[in-house]
Amino acid sequence: MNKKQKRWRNRIILALIIFAVVYAIDELGLLERLFGTPGDVYASFVLFLIPYLIAGYDVLRKAWRNIRHGQAFDESFLMAVATIGAFAMVFFPETEPHMAEGAAVMLFYQVGELFQSYAVGQSRKSISALMDIAPDYANIERDGQLVEVDPDEVQVGDTIVIKPGERVPIDGVVTSGASQLDTAALTGESIPRHVEPGAEIISGCINMTGMLHVRTTKPFGESTVSRILELVENASEKKARTENFITRFARWYTPIVTGAAVLLAVIPPLLGMGSWSDWILRGLTFLVVSCPCALVISVPLSFFGGIGGASKLGILVKGSNYLELLSKVDTVVFDKTGTLTNGTFNVVAIHPETGVDPDYVLSNAAYAEAFSDHPIAVSVRQAYSGEIDQARIRDAHEESGHGVSANVDEHVVLVGNDKLMREHGARWHECDLTGTILHVTVDGEYVGHIVIADVVKDDAAETIRDLHAAGVKKCVMLTGDRRDVAEAVGTKLGLDEVHAQLLPADKVNAVERLLSLEQGDAKLAFVGDGINDAPVLTRADVGIAMGAMGSDAAIEAADVVLMDDKPSKISHAIRISRKTMRIVWQNIVFALAVKIAILVLAALGIANMWLAVFGDVGVAIIAILNAMRAMQVKNL
Ligand code: ADP
Ligand code: MG
Repeated sequence: MNKKQKRWRNRIILALIIFAVVYAIDELGLLERLFGTPGDVYASFVLFLIPYLIAGYDVLRKAWRNIRHGQAFDESFLMAVATIGAFAMVFFPETEPHMAEGAAVMLFYQVGELFQSYAVGQSRKSISALMDIAPDYANIERDGQLVEVDPDEVQVGDTIVIKPGERVPIDGVVTSGASQLDTAALTGESIPRHVEPGAEIISGCINMTGMLHVRTTKPFGESTVSRILELVENASEKKARTENFITRFARWYTPIVTGAAVLLAVIPPLLGMGSWSDWILRGLTFLVVSCPCALVISVPLSFFGGIGGASKLGILVKGSNYLELLSKVDTVVFDKTGTLTNGTFNVVAIHPETGVDPDYVLSNAAYAEAFSDHPIAVSVRQAYSGEIDQARIRDAHEESGHGVSANVDEHVVLVGNDKLMREHGARWHECDLTGTILHVTVDGEYVGHIVIADVVKDDAAETIRDLHAAGVKKCVMLTGDRRDVAEAVGTKLGLDEVHAQLLPADKVNAVERLLSLEQGDAKLAFVGDGINDAPVLTRADVGIAMGAMGSDAAIEAADVVLMDDKPSKISHAIRISRKTMRIVWQNIVFALAVKIAILVLAALGIANMWLAVFGDVGVAIIAILNAMRAMQVKNL
């Protein structure tokens, strides 16, 4: 609890104590003995006014302020009218007095409000635990001394020093030192990651054991932490349909209920169906129950909790609308390389043409791939043990879904699949090994091919099984790779459909075709690592990008971002979304059902103010408690 909430709580407790004392005095008949009748009624009027005002003066003030600004119909208005009305019943001497109820309604309303503010603060905290990843300084070395500077001032390429126990402020590459990094705040992963010189590290992790020198590769504003924080901050702007519906509902509902309460209080007595005081009391009771706060608070809170819970697992959902869409997903489409497979290829074989040295094939491939970010390129460079002298390369050019071309020492080198060869009219031949084949030509002359193979991720098969178990009907894989590789992976993982040899544009078409097969409200999610699949990410109902370190374009284009590259996070995300939607609907149905029941009872004169207080505050508290479950992601 913060200071303001503590003061608020103390005020409520004080009011409750005074209320209890006054109530006891009244019940024991002391007032009657002291003031006689009807003096006792006026005495208790004044006495109950004390806890009422202590607890509720701010509500009254707010209601008054809103009325003056022309926005009458909010919950403080409902409460003010209902409670003032209850006190005003004293002017109907023929009825029982209702001051106690008036004061009690205000008191419990405030208890509910306090609880609500606490709950919202609590779930905000779970998101700001994530906010805590924001570092406030970076160490740089100046004249042999370490100085703390604002991370914003650090330039790309500067060397920063990270001491054990400190948070990595900016993305970069380790230049010296070795350590363990705690990435839990980002990925939910509890096993520390070992880093040594050459390793890329992302901001937001905690350096646990050793001192690290890191050359920064991004400005602070574009580093992982800054991007995550931006995502989370903007998440609340994108509202789910259900959320918008509730807001619109509340806007109509309150004036309608107020109108109904007025009619209920006025019409029957005009028709001579009973006393004014009786019907006015029913109208007031009506007002108390009708307060829509259980919905207005608990629905956004559930979404907020779902997004917060997901973020604890390293799943960033860019808005509650995406959480809602995710819950309706029945088709999940995966990109292959880097998504279902590791994206780190091993060279299985090098098949040079007769008379060509295998090293010649590999070195030319590595040079041509020098500037590509594609996982294939990274692996080829890794397989080539020599240094790459970048000055020897010109006009390096990537052809998405085909391969690369570059000038190496004035020789034109092509590296890629059969499509690339065909496009350039090069002669080439098939290979009978299963794997991804990189054909290499130098100056149009075929020098041979490199066979590389990728391994499927450890949790890929489990993910597909889990998705099926969670009710996803179809898991599809799209790839630009060869058919035999694709089919081998498809069978191994138990995928429902596999489409191979697709160019990036073909992937968009494939997704569009799958989208057209979706029935009713069902949605399609596409999962990719963002290397050349950003167009598909935007096209799908829900675009999921994997490995926030992957590519900036993917994070821009995606609706859900997985911090690490574990496909199992996808089924977690879907389960969280389903659970959140379940909670949202439980709250909507529960709150409306209880309220309608009490409204009917109130109109019939069966429900009293005490029940009405439960109908308002009790329901709100139960709904909020339920909403907070959305944050729990332990046992999915
Ligand atoms: P995926 O659909 O599996 O993610 P891509 O669409 O990225 O694969 O690539 C499809 C195919 O294009 C690869 O299997 C490879 O044959 C070829 N290719 C793409 N990029 C490169 C590259 N940088 N070097 C060589 N071949 C490449
Ligand atoms: Mg790809």
